[in-house]
Amino acid sequence: MKPADKTVEEWEEQLESLPCSICNLNIEEEEDKLLLCDRCNRGFHIFCLDPVRDHVPKDDWFWPECVIVKISQQIMSEKSHSQEVLQLQQ
Ligand SMILES: [Zn+2]
Ligand SMILES: [Zn+2]
Repeated sequence: MKPADKTVEEWEEQLESLPCSICNLNIEEEEDKLLLCDRCNRGFHIFCLDPVRDHVPKDDWFWPECVIVKISQQIMSEKSHSQEVLQLQQ
């Protein structure tokens, strides 16, 4: 996902030089094997992931650590929401 404060050109330039967050390498021939986390915008090679993926998914993809953060944030917001409901009922 493109950050709002970047132009498309800036963003594409950044993607081209984006290193893999696991091996820290940016291999030009492997560019199409770099997965981008839609939450933190970090790059990950599909072959650096554990388990290894054989293709780049077309849908949004999240680095497993970000999935955990995302889920816990959802739980937090649900909790605070149900607390609001409780307060309203009192
Ligand atoms: Zn890598
Ligand atoms: Zn992420």
